[in-house]
Amino acid sequence: MKQTSITPEFVEIIPDQLVEGVLYISEKYGTALHKCCCGCGLEVVTPLKPSGWKVMREGGKVSLAPSIGNWSFPCRSHYWIRRNQIVWAGAFSDQMIRRVQARDRRDIELHIARVNAQKAETQGHVHQSTDQDPGDRGFTWGDLIVACLARVKAWWRGRK
Ligand SMILES: [Zn+2]
Repeated sequence: MKQTSITPEFVEIIPDQLVEGVLYISEKYGTALHKCCCGCGLEVVTPLKPSGWKVMREGGKVSLAPSIGNWSFPCRSHYWIRRNQIVWAGAFSDQMIRRVQARDRRDIELHIARVNAQKAETQGHVHQSTDQDPGDRGFTWGDLIVACLARVKAWWRGRK
């Protein structure tokens, strides 16, 4: 049966047996887990990291962003967890799944680019003055390898 609400439970270690209707959040291990809210019993893992999900707390109520899209499950459930409530979206169509996967890929690539930019800054690269040609930024082999890896990963994910 489709659930309409979920109860957050902050734990250190995620238990082996999950109870339906409970969102287990382990900040220590940066992950959250719950049983699919459609009632199919499959476990949904949502890593809590910049390229994954974010937990927002509001006076004992929890929201998770972005939405939960279980398109790899037979149920293909899609819902949001907002202030302990389950907000249901329609099931994913194949076209939507492709679009979401493409968006995920872009997000990951953007995230990698951002991390690399931060790294370059902390490694003490000299700040260039703003009147310099922005195209003249230098492209390292590291950037190229990271970009290739992202593409291989995206291809691998797309194959599954
Ligand atoms: Zn399900």
